[in-house]
Amino acid sequence: MRIDVITIFPEYLAPLDLSLIGKARREGLVDLNVHDLRGFTHDRHRTVDDTPVGGGAGMVMKPEPWAEAFAHVIAQGQAELGASAQPVVLFPNPAGEPLRQASARSLSEEAWLVFACGRYEGIDERVYEHLAARGCRIRLVSLGDYVLNGGEVAVLAITEAVVRLVPGVLGNPESVVEESHSHGLLEYPIYTRPASWTDPDGVERRVPEILLSGDHGRIAAWRHARSLERTRQRRPDLLASQGDADDSTSAR
Ligand code: SAM
Repeated sequence: MRIDVITIFPEYLAPLDLSLIGKARREGLVDLNVHDLRGFTHDRHRTVDDTPVGGGAGMVMKPEPWAEAFAHVIAQGQAELGASAQPVVLFPNPAGEPLRQASARSLSEEAWLVFACGRYEGIDERVYEHLAARGCRIRLVSLGDYVLNGGEVAVLAITEAVVRLVPGVLGNPESVVEESHSHGLLEYPIYTRPASWTDPDGVERRVPEILLSGDHGRIAAWRHARSLERTRQRRPDLLASQGDADDSTSAR
């Protein structure tokens, strides 16, 4: 998978060199390129923003550097991936579709993603119109119903959610099969050794006996029941959006 990120703060993306994503990059599973939007300006101050037309607070990102950056990034990507390659262009945006596991999964199947990090009040609307008119696949993606200062934190989160689903990135591919949101439920409680642990207040806390039984069928049933229970308690909206909350097979 190829990923390009356009930002005025390239150093903000440094964590993408760490941990599993850094390893995936080193192993050639992900080709991640960060581009400085200011590199596509032509004035002494490398200006990327201006005041909002019509008045109002804050500054708006100018269309010219964005159009140049997209032209450069898309040409560079097509030189590597082939002239017919087309990226999905992702704009982190509080007015976008909320990021969900299903969207992360479908994005993980794409060959090429381009992220555009907004700052200030956001990007001049004509940039979206320009890309759409060129036939680009555009998606506005929100991390949640709150406002961040810029798109970089969202790119870190979206990239992590997507790249861990790319085959070969996680050591054990089973890890992504049974986890929260993979089947519309939250994950069941998990434990490790020792089976009996006395906490610092002197209370003995035991792993549920059933998990020590070695009976895989009963363990799976227990885990599924805990998943349903936990989802009902913490995120009943997830069950409501699936229809029949009591049909345990449909929820899996
Ligand atoms: N004026 C914009 C509005 O009211 O919708 C908010 C702009 S915000 C200060 C600057 C940038 O941060 C946005 O262009 C976007 O890239 C990013 N951003 C802010 N909140 C976000 C969220 N919840 N999810 C994803 N990106 C977000």
